[in-house]
Amino acid sequence: MKKLLALLLFAATAFAEQVPYAPDRRADEGEGPFQRLIIRGATLVDGTGAPPVGPVDIVIEGNRIREVRSVGFPKVPIRNEGRPKDATREIDGSSLWVLPGFVDMHGHSGGDAQGTPAEYVFKLWMAHGVTTVREPGCGNGTDWCLHERDRSAKNQIVAPRLFPYIFTSERSWDGGAIDTPDQARKFAQYVSRKGADGIKILGPAPLFAPDVLSALLDEANKLHLGTTTHLAQLGVAQSNIIQAARMGLRGMEHWYGLPESLFTDRTIQNYPHDYNYNDEQNRFGEAGRLWKQAAPPESEKWNATIDELIKLHFNIDPTLNIYEASRDLMRAMRAEWHDRYTLPSLWRFYQPSRSAHGSYWFNWTTGDEVEWKNNYRIWMQFLSDYKNRGGRVTTGSDSGFIFQLYGFAYIRELELLQEAGFHPLEVIRSATMWGADAIMAPKGTKADFGVVKSGYLADLVLVDQNPIANLKVLYGTGWLHVNDSTGSAERIGGIKYVMKDGILYDAKRLLHDVEVMVQDAKVKEGKTK
Ligand SMILES: [Zn+2]
Repeated sequence: MKKLLALLLFAATAFAEQVPYAPDRRADEGEGPFQRLIIRGATLVDGTGAPPVGPVDIVIEGNRIREVRSVGFPKVPIRNEGRPKDATREIDGSSLWVLPGFVDMHGHSGGDAQGTPAEYVFKLWMAHGVTTVREPGCGNGTDWCLHERDRSAKNQIVAPRLFPYIFTSERSWDGGAIDTPDQARKFAQYVSRKGADGIKILGPAPLFAPDVLSALLDEANKLHLGTTTHLAQLGVAQSNIIQAARMGLRGMEHWYGLPESLFTDRTIQNYPHDYNYNDEQNRFGEAGRLWKQAAPPESEKWNATIDELIKLHFNIDPTLNIYEASRDLMRAMRAEWHDRYTLPSLWRFYQPSRSAHGSYWFNWTTGDEVEWKNNYRIWMQFLSDYKNRGGRVTTGSDSGFIFQLYGFAYIRELELLQEAGFHPLEVIRSATMWGADAIMAPKGTKADFGVVKSGYLADLVLVDQNPIANLKVLYGTGWLHVNDSTGSAERIGGIKYVMKDGILYDAKRLLHDVEVMVQDAKVKEGKTK
């Protein structure tokens, strides 16, 4: 979301210092891959929407899941005959829930503006079970992104699998403005030549002229590149979401352009006459008053738009969490993880500023928060209806802006989908199988991750509390409850292990590494807290 601002900041420092790469993975970071690992007696949530089932034994050989076998009944001793054998390593899964590794469809790798090293971002993701990230833009540059993608693929760094999408404002593209159909095609060819997975369409505005946008999308589809967009206000009067989807756009981020597709009594949002897009109080304040200008839920236009987008196999990646400060600034600002896990440089980046992106707290009032709460209600109903009528909704975080912290905000995204009306199993399906499908569909290949099943890549989340009963147990800070046998409050949960590509990481240790980085940064800056 903060792309534009971030890009401006990047431009200011362009070619100054390259953002450092993540450090090489040390020998004591992660264990495996294993010749034959068996996780025994676990409860499985496989990612397809199937209910939890257990006890199961899960066999992993190298970086692939070899077998998933049901081995008995709850609360009944497991009989040994009929269980898979010959493990070279075993994990007692009797108190563990096993899920597929999570897919964050909107993960920026941080950078100069936030002062967030790659190691910090990658470890926060991994500690929260995120084993795959679609990088929607590659703000540190295409080459940086591809470099880290390749190292992650070889497990040379502690990081999720990375799928780079390139900004249409990418600075290493030297082919000039993308403002004609011919230029648009050339840009898509450039992204394909580079070996990236797709294009993140953000602007500038001339790109949203129908002839230019349709050429870009046509060429991208021919080249099997994915496409997604942040369809900002500066472009939406030329092409809204339904119009872009008809031209071949594969999916969208956030929600911009959707209410505009549902207008029946106007063609342009009801901007105040003194509105200025570069005044972010204007931009975000008025955005919170947008859904109510669209055709209402369950109206003919509402249903027809949903059905047409579904027919076009259009993916919606809402990133609900990134706007949450708009409806409750104090909640986002005082989140309990900031003290331990937010770098001072990132904290500074979040503070009110007329010139920093997403820091629009100049005159943020009760009225603004109420408008946003109402805005969310309609938006969430759209997402729930989209899912119920057969559409695919995925999970993306967009962290590093607006008080949202990498990893933690991803779990918050899962909670917000539940608030939108998704059953927790539907939430997990969005976070796993559907994310994998959305990444692989444009390539014309079937995903082999995102589901716990034989033959698939060994990307797993292991947690010692039931995440279906309570998504909060997935937060790195765990869940605060009262232990009724001791009578005292305690924290439980937090992901225990995360496996990526057959390598097993202690999630709490990854989080500890992050805590040390934050402490060191504070000491360096002479802060005590
Ligand atoms: Zn973003």
